[in-house]
This record gives sequence, C-alpha cells and structure tokens, in this order.
Amino acid sequence: MCGHCGARGQLRPHVVWFGEMPLRMDEIYAELDRCTQFLSVGTSGMVYPAAGFVQHVRRHVPRAHTAELNLKPSDGHSLFRERVYGPATEVVPAYVEKLLKSGWR
Ligand SMILES: [Zn+2]
Repeated sequence: MCGHCGARGQLRPHVVWFGEMPLRMDEIYAELDRCTQFLSVGTSGMVYPAAGFVQHVRRHVPRAHTAELNLKPSDGHSLFRERVYGPATEVVPAYVEKLLKSGWR
C-alpha cells in the first residue's frame, strides 16, 4: 500500500525494467557531456540507451577516457580505449584504486 495516497498494488521498485526508458535522460546526457572518465561495468552492451552511452561520449567528449570493466568483452568492446576483464568484485576496486593513485578526482 502506498504510504502517501493509500493506493494498493501500484507500487514498484525504483529501477529501470527491460524495455523501459530511464528517467531523466536529459540529465544523463548532460553528465555524459562533461565526463572525463566513462566506465562501463558489468554489461553485455546490447541494451539501449545505455549501450549507446560510450558512442555518445566518444563523439561529444573525445578527450574523455573510456573503459570497459566486464567479465568478458561486450558487444561494443572495441569502442572502449581500455578494457579490463574479470569479476567486478576484483577488477572494479583495483581500477578505482589505480585511478585514485593517478591523481584523478
Ligand atoms: Zn500513492
């Protein structure tokens, strides 16, 4: 039951289901347009709009570094300048540590 209006059976988790468009796409693209690091973590690279984000960054922010951290190469792996493969529980903390040591903020 909704704690605000009392409606029953209408609540859903605040996530994007397969086939839905994420909320606030304008804000997402605004952030992409000003990013310096674009990391794609744990995705097949097959589901849009997220699958197109790396192409957007490469086109609009050519100086941004793009990296794919994944269990295995995604469909769009060739679009990334850097590719790191392995379990996210291992490669993501190591990548972030490397980024922080490099002085990136
Ligand atoms: Zn409600």
